[in-house]
Amino acid sequence: MPIFYFRNDDVNVLDEELINVTRRCTDEGVPITHTVEPANVTDECIDWLIAEKSKNPRLVELMQHGYDHVERDVGEFGGNRSYEDQFADLSTGKRILQEKLGDAYLPCLNFPFGPYNKNSMRAADDLGFRIICSHYNHRLSRRIMYAVGHALNLGQILDKHVSYHLGTYPRTGMYCIDMAVSFIDKYIGEHGSNTCEFHSAEKMAENITPFLNFTPVIGVLLHHRFHHTEESLDLITKTIRHIKTIPGAEFLNIEEIYNRTCPDPGKGFRE
Ligand SMILES: [Zn+2]
Repeated sequence: MPIFYFRNDDVNVLDEELINVTRRCTDEGVPITHTVEPANVTDECIDWLIAEKSKNPRLVELMQHGYDHVERDVGEFGGNRSYEDQFADLSTGKRILQEKLGDAYLPCLNFPFGPYNKNSMRAADDLGFRIICSHYNHRLSRRIMYAVGHALNLGQILDKHVSYHLGTYPRTGMYCIDMAVSFIDKYIGEHGSNTCEFHSAEKMAENITPFLNFTPVIGVLLHHRFHHTEESLDLITKTIRHIKTIPGAEFLNIEEIYNRTCPDPGKGFRE
């Protein structure tokens, strides 16, 4: 402890950025979990992901990122979307990825753009997802809000999500492994743009430090499409090397975190 994991979102086509970001992690012996967009992922990309995973089974992990990554109400999921509607999309997405990835598919889900509602969670649970990834914030106001939510078994308070990081999401059998810090400071342009302002390596270190006081598992979020310069790739390596200086720091993949920290890992994990 502490345990770190790296998750890379929005995997759809095979490009240099995806390859380079993956290498920056695996070259350092750090697992990277790719969240794959079922409706958009190309066969070329699937072939590459499977080849990478067979070379490095523990360093490359593949999970599901919603269905088609199209913004509807407030995001791809959540808002006013019904149970049936969301179930249909998640189910189609799961079937596609199970067919394409086979044993390499981890029954773990995160929702594009972030939003979800209780119907999204119920649908994911009914579809047999074992792990759900949302967002954890260490700020005191959020931790108080989470404590109130936990006491009342609520998924949301007003428009804010309650994090159940390293616990079970209410009324489901899904274990939560939430995200903590992002490399991106500011997104620039519409969704799908590949322009952003990154935090500096120093700022990344500074942003990671307070989490050490509040959680044993800290997620670091990547979006490979923004890493198209050498400097932005070096930022990944510098951050990994900084984490390596934290006493006791370990890098695990999400399945390993589940097996290590979930008090009762479910049976039939792989289905
Ligand atoms: Zn996304």
